[in-house]
Amino acid sequence: MELYAQTAETLGRMLRRRECSAMEIAASVFSRIRACEPDLHAYITVTEAAALEQAAKVDEKLAAGGKLPPLAGIPVGIKDNLCTKGVRTTCASRMLAAFVPPYDAAVCEKLAEAGAVFTGKTNLDEFAMGSSSRSSIYGPTKNPLDFARVPGGSSGGSAAAVASGEAVFALGSDTGGSVRQPAAYCGVVGLKPTYGSVSRYGLIAFASSLDQVGMLARSVRDTALLFEAVAGRDVRDATSVEMAAPVLTAGLGQPVEGLRIGIPSAYFEGSIAPDVAERVMEAAHTLEKAGARLVPVTLSSAHDALAVYYVLSSAEASSNLARYDGVRYGYRAADCENLQSLYERSRSEGFGDEVKRRILLGTFVLSAGSREAYYLRAQRAGQRIAREFNEAFALCDCILTPTTPETAFGMGEKLESPLDLYVSDCYTVAANLAGLPALSVPCGFGANRMPAGMQLVGPRFSERALLGAAAWYETLCGPFPMPALGEWRDRHGV
Ligand code: GLN
Repeated sequence: MELYAQTAETLGRMLRRRECSAMEIAASVFSRIRACEPDLHAYITVTEAAALEQAAKVDEKLAAGGKLPPLAGIPVGIKDNLCTKGVRTTCASRMLAAFVPPYDAAVCEKLAEAGAVFTGKTNLDEFAMGSSSRSSIYGPTKNPLDFARVPGGSSGGSAAAVASGEAVFALGSDTGGSVRQPAAYCGVVGLKPTYGSVSRYGLIAFASSLDQVGMLARSVRDTALLFEAVAGRDVRDATSVEMAAPVLTAGLGQPVEGLRIGIPSAYFEGSIAPDVAERVMEAAHTLEKAGARLVPVTLSSAHDALAVYYVLSSAEASSNLARYDGVRYGYRAADCENLQSLYERSRSEGFGDEVKRRILLGTFVLSAGSREAYYLRAQRAGQRIAREFNEAFALCDCILTPTTPETAFGMGEKLESPLDLYVSDCYTVAANLAGLPALSVPCGFGANRMPAGMQLVGPRFSERALLGAAAWYETLCGPFPMPALGEWRDRHGV
């Protein structure tokens, strides 16, 4: 198997046994990037020269007999809303097209310390607002399994890069599902950790109370490795906390005997595609046969989650994005007559339609006459959703749902009304509202041969249990991503 198609775990082992060098791994991934990018467009910026330098350093260390840090020589893609010192960070927006951060996001610092090799900055929906990666000013990313379909979003570039071997794993951000939904659409694993478990320092803010840095990888164990490398308290993010025991990978893959898995019937009814519901229930039964217990749980207020999410996330976005005024940094319109027109024109020309829609909606729900009717009510409803999840966790250890109501849709679909697109987040947003960890794992293919994802949601800081159950599932079923890669080669003749 080509080096780019290996997991981080295998590559780490091969490096330490001197079966390959970090330079060879990097060369394999960059040749894959060159072969795939013209079709896929998973990246906004590729940083090959810097990556080869990083890889050379790992090889020098290895040659000198030094102990390698945990992720030494593993190529990682970074979503382009995470600040990278000296490397343009655009948020896929005209507003930040020329922004070169003077500092690294905390997660990038940690990955650099862990010896990872940065492949580049991955494509996304503008300012991480969207579910299809089509609203990037740099053009859309395609789904590696079918170029006529979306990869999901907003971390669609990260998901497509990982699924195609253009990166071994990648970081994304998840405010309402932006790691899990593209992971499901591209057939890879995606984790949104507990709110506060990973520093948001250097993650360009969308909705601060919901934003969390997340991980995408081709195996559950790689996802755990990446999470482990970036989790932990950071004084620069006041909401970050120290994880009790972040050593995850060692104990993964234990049998699920006795695990109580909650099944909320509301998530399997209504507008869900029957083939997706079937695949996810099959996965639940696979775990049941392995000794887990399926327990019915009620999550009635989950129906409101989507509306609550769009009110709260837009409110916070309207406030966070107020900083882009054309004065301090970011895009500035030329030849403005006065300050007012500088503000107006810079924001009108710098932001795309979806971002403007969120700013307008957010400003409206926070305005004097509407605050009580929308924003405060949504906050109360969000708290009710969190309470309901906590009550359910008295009966079960984790909750299993579909990640999305359908598999990846066509490039030309859901363009008429923004609501059509918003609905694809209906199963993912609740975990953000409640601050809970949630994981999407591939669980087979839908009728159209596109991957389906099952979502596991657990109590705060239960990453270990979620990753453990998923790792066992992966052991039972075999890793899904590799057949998907092969399938991609068949379909596109790559
Ligand atoms: N698709 C959702 C939205 O458009 C989620 C975005 C995200 O998680 N960043 O808001």
